[in-house]
Amino acid sequence: MLNIAIDGPAGAGKSTIAKTVARELGCIYVDTGAMYRAIGLFAVENGIPTKDAAALAPRLTEAKVAIEYREDGQHILLNGRDVSAEIRTPEMGMAASDVSAMPEVRAYLLDLQRDMAATHNVVMDGRDIGTVILPNANVKIFLTASAEERARRRHAEHVAKGENVSYNKILDDIVQRDSQDTSRASAPLKQAEDAVLVDSTGLTVAQVADAILKLVNERL
Ligand code: C5P
Repeated sequence: MLNIAIDGPAGAGKSTIAKTVARELGCIYVDTGAMYRAIGLFAVENGIPTKDAAALAPRLTEAKVAIEYREDGQHILLNGRDVSAEIRTPEMGMAASDVSAMPEVRAYLLDLQRDMAATHNVVMDGRDIGTVILPNANVKIFLTASAEERARRRHAEHVAKGENVSYNKILDDIVQRDSQDTSRASAPLKQAEDAVLVDSTGLTVAQVADAILKLVNERL
């Protein structure tokens, strides 16, 4: 199976790039952040504080997360309900960051992620794909960009959807999430030793995708 791992901080463009690369290579795109967001949503909906591992861990088996592929792309299901749109808020990003710091949550989602990569050609994006989930991935990319550029991109996405979110709030969230994600004990965000660093600041999606496709072609 062809396995491509793309890791990096919030808003670096991982999902847009991963989707483009997956389309070009005929792979499926697996968005692992969406799985953590679904668990964050499960906690919020059930009144479980998102930092309370003792309360959330025993309830995890009640949160069945699945990915379905339809013509319009990946859909994330929580107990059979399509939550793809609901999980795309800054609040769910923070909830995901909180729950993802718990080793129990990471262990719970690990099998689902590894199974997908064992049975499909995948471009998988996340925080620990190259370091923990797919240590033998064919190609590993660590995609980054400055915090301001990442906040600008996220802000533009919300504006395009007609949502009124302030740029400063998004920048604050990104800085806070980066710090939570890189400082946690369990599978922190970090570049794998054998990952190629790609800084997308000032580059277009096409330029970044081309650079990654070139790398993939060189390696295969
Ligand atoms: O990528 P996205 O912004 O959707 O991820 C939401 C949160 O889920 C991240 O801030 C991170 O804390 C967590 N996450 C993770 N490991 C992954 C993917 C996401 O810890 N593989």
